[in-house]
Amino acid sequence: MRKMIIAGNWKMNKDIKETFDFLLPLKNNLIGQNLNVEVVVCPPFTSLFIASDILRETNIKIGAQNMFYEVEGAYTGEISPKMLKSVRCEYVILGHSERRRYFGETDEIVNKKVKKAIEFGLKPIVCVGETLEERENGETFKVLEKQIKGVLEGLTYEQMRNVVIAYEPVWAIGTGRNATPDQAQEAQRFIRELVAGLFNDGIAQNLTIQYGGSVTPENAYSLLSQPDVDGALVGGASLKVDAFLKIIKAGETASVEKKN
Ligand code: PEP
Repeated sequence: MRKMIIAGNWKMNKDIKETFDFLLPLKNNLIGQNLNVEVVVCPPFTSLFIASDILRETNIKIGAQNMFYEVEGAYTGEISPKMLKSVRCEYVILGHSERRRYFGETDEIVNKKVKKAIEFGLKPIVCVGETLEERENGETFKVLEKQIKGVLEGLTYEQMRNVVIAYEPVWAIGTGRNATPDQAQEAQRFIRELVAGLFNDGIAQNLTIQYGGSVTPENAYSLLSQPDVDGALVGGASLKVDAFLKIIKAGETASVEKKN
């Protein structure tokens, strides 16, 4: 049974005080609960240390939003997997469409990062997704196939056990226009079948595939109850504790229903 993962991508939001103000009530709400979903928060780099301190010995995991594929050296402004491990990160988002669009990340770069993250014991949440133009041109599957093949190129079966995929249609990110449950299911089933062909069915069935793109407390359950939607990568709605908790609750309900 694959794990449902609800992850909050804070993007470039929250200073240290705001990190405290968010994480303390989140922790108080979830502490001691036997959760069916894995809850992950991905603050900006500057908040990672304090976040992992606040969440020490809780059931809430920490993720980073990016990393470089080298371990150390003359790479001004970059952060390495070793540094992320030292602040007790367990996850790292890689290849987010904002990284691709504003910072020129390609599938090849993302692939190098995925391999390095796994080498250091981090679980990469690897983002793929088509633009609106690509969807309207009927190219969604073609784009997803190219991205999935590119970002997973050369990974071993063993490495694949640590990978999480986030299907994030670019047109749904931060727009308030989420994919319909059917659209998410169709794309995510396609990704799983593709992974089955590239690796094997066991790897594909164990692979957590999240949906991301304007997930809210209102639409979370209908998305998360789809058979191939194994969680959510949440941007805007992960910035407010109440909204994020409601999405976690929707994930709990969907996860329990899928187990039965
Ligand atoms: C994201 O940043 O990955 C995202 C899906 O953002 P939003 O939920 O705001 O669309």
